[in-house]
Amino acid sequence: MQISNDKDKRENLAQNLKKGWQLLNEVHHYLDPSFTDQSDIDFLDLTKAIVPDKEDVIKTLSLPQLVEQVKSCTLCPLYKTRTNSVSGQGGINARLMVIGEAPGKNEDLEGLPFVGNSGKYLDSWMKAINLTRDHSLYITNIVKCRPPNNRDPEKNEIEACLPYLKQQIALIKPEAILCLGKVAANTLFENQEPLKDMRQKVFRYQQISTVVTYHPSAVLRNLSLRKEVWDDLKLVASLLNLPIRS
Ligand code: URA
Ligand code: SF4
Repeated sequence: MQISNDKDKRENLAQNLKKGWQLLNEVHHYLDPSFTDQSDIDFLDLTKAIVPDKEDVIKTLSLPQLVEQVKSCTLCPLYKTRTNSVSGQGGINARLMVIGEAPGKNEDLEGLPFVGNSGKYLDSWMKAINLTRDHSLYITNIVKCRPPNNRDPEKNEIEACLPYLKQQIALIKPEAILCLGKVAANTLFENQEPLKDMRQKVFRYQQISTVVTYHPSAVLRNLSLRKEVWDDLKLVASLLNLPIRS
C-alpha cells in the first residue's frame, strides 16, 4: 500500500460525504415532512476507513514492511532528490539504538546509515563500548532521506518522517538509545536546549533510557570534544552493563 499525504484528501472527502448526507436528509424530509435527521455522524472519523491516517498505518508495520515503505516513501519533498532512502541498519533484537540526523552523500548512494567518515568514527565509538554493527546495534536517523547539500532537515520533513522512527523504536524496543547531535536531541525531546545541557543525563523516550552526545562529525571538526563523548559513552555502557576499554 502506498501511504499518502492524506490530511487534505480526508478533509475533502469528509466534507463531500457530509454534503451528500445533508442532501439525502432534505429529500427524506421532502417526502416525509415529519422526518428530522437525528444522526450524529463524525464524517472525518468515517473517512479514516477509506483514506487511512498515515500515522495509524505506520504503527501497524513490521520492520521489513517499514523498510519497504521507506524505500518508496513520498511523504515529504526529500524523496525528489534522494538516490536511496536509508531506513536503518541492525537487528530487531538490538540492545542499543543509535539515532543520527539524516543520511549524507555516501549514505544516500549506498542506502546504509553512517558509512562515510563520521560513520567510521562512530564505529570506533561503538567498539570502545564493545558493540559492533551486528544484531546488538541498530543505527538509524531522524529523517531517512538526504537533505540537499546536507542542510539540516526542515520541520515539515522531520514531522513527516518521525512516525517511522517511532515505529522502529516500538518494534525493536532497545534497552537504550544514544542520540547523536542537536537535531536528533531537540527533535526527540521537543526542546531547543543546547546539546551541552542535555549531555550526561538519562532521559526517557518511549520508556527507553536515552543518552545524548555530540554528533561524530562535530567531534571530527573539534577533537577537544572527545573527552565529553567518552564520558557519554561510558554512561551508555553502564546502562547496558557493557564492559568498556579502560
Ligand atoms: N550523519 C548522520 O547524521 N547520519 C548518517 O547516516 C550519516 C551522517
Ligand atoms: Fe519519506 Fe522520510 Fe524520505 Fe521524507 S525523509 S520522503 S518522510 S522517508
